[in-house]
Amino acid sequence: MAISFDGDGLLDIIYQYIWTKTPQDTGVRGFSIPDTIIYKYQQPRSWYFTSLDGSIKKRAKDKLKIQHIEKSFLKNVSRSGIVAWYLYIEAKTRIVEFLNTDDFKHFLHYRKKAEEGILQKFIDPKGEKNTLIQMIWTPQVCLFELRENLKDLYDVRYDIYERAVTFEGEEFHSTSRQICSKELKSYMQTIINKLVEHINRVSLGRMPINRMVLHFKQSKNDTLWLIRSCSIRRSNDMISEPIVINSDIHLPETVNTKKFSLTPQSAMALQKTVLCRNCSQPMEADKMCEISYRMILSVNRNSEMPDLIQRIHTQMNQAEYEKLKHNPLFLSKQTLVCDVCFLEYASECKNSGAMPRPQSNENFRMLPLDPSKTNKRRDLTNMSIGDRVSTAKSTKGFTCFKNSSLPRISTAIQVSSQKSLARVFGMNDITAFLEERYANRRLITR
Ligand SMILES: [Zn+2]
Repeated sequence: MAISFDGDGLLDIIYQYIWTKTPQDTGVRGFSIPDTIIYKYQQPRSWYFTSLDGSIKKRAKDKLKIQHIEKSFLKNVSRSGIVAWYLYIEAKTRIVEFLNTDDFKHFLHYRKKAEEGILQKFIDPKGEKNTLIQMIWTPQVCLFELRENLKDLYDVRYDIYERAVTFEGEEFHSTSRQICSKELKSYMQTIINKLVEHINRVSLGRMPINRMVLHFKQSKNDTLWLIRSCSIRRSNDMISEPIVINSDIHLPETVNTKKFSLTPQSAMALQKTVLCRNCSQPMEADKMCEISYRMILSVNRNSEMPDLIQRIHTQMNQAEYEKLKHNPLFLSKQTLVCDVCFLEYASECKNSGAMPRPQSNENFRMLPLDPSKTNKRRDLTNMSIGDRVSTAKSTKGFTCFKNSSLPRISTAIQVSSQKSLARVFGMNDITAFLEERYANRRLITR
């Protein structure tokens, strides 16, 4: 049995000590352990779980196959869509990832695993929000903190990380609470006192734990689950570092933890799932901006093909590029780059990157105002309206609208109604489009 128990690595060995039995030991520890698979040298090494009678068990070696793991973990998946979490060490930092079904399958079948890791089935919390209980245990006193995520775990409009993080994420994603139940606190204290005694016994006195940080979760039927241990110190160590009370577990770099969604309708993407073609940095999907080839080419100083175009069209050579670079269809093509790259292009480009409006007819120019023309036109209109109204009156006896008292829809009203229509259709502003139409109509009617 490995002795390196002290310090703050993955501390996966605690599961083994919990499972190890002394003679006449039932293996019941007063808490449950979710299906937990320990990876060593990139391979699944041990699989711990809680049997129906509440005892902690270990699956036989022949069950440590991908198909068995997949079948077991994908049975009764949480309504939140989270299948499991995966804890590993990267650059001396503990990283935790939450995996949905697709991520989980990808992890099992394709992903290169870390040298050591813990894969654990996700357990639904007691309420609608994800919670974890942190217990700092010492022989004399125990401190408890409950951390509850602010978002509804089952509202899948939010990013999986925004719904799931507790101690792992930024503090503004969760809220800290005291545990009010004295019974729960004293129960946890009793079972962990017993566990510490048990570990000391099965390790033949080599593991006299005197400080420990543990994470628990309470599920719907008030079952208490031991999720993981974050920090352990032994009493017989001559020089011992202070225990780390803030869990010191981080999220991967591909998650932007600084974001916070205000409403589910405007939920933001936290996971960087897209690669910017210009700077090759992973980005969140909602940070990508469309950029036209016209803009890419306008920033290009020399006649050579811009790198970005080369990256998109790997088969294109310089001669083909020369042929295409004045083609309006090619220039109006668009690609996606991250917001940082877009701003760089925009700062060097003459326009904002918006498509230029078609050139107006050169012959068209504003004529000087001629009020007599307008008056003549109005009189003609009024005469025709007057005719209609007087005809209507003569036949049906309606009130006569003398001289153009009929409401006329002004251009301003038309434009504003079009603008509100634009909002309905999710367009920003169609004023430019309308102006152009008016200009064209003037050309036609002139
Ligand atoms: Zn970029």
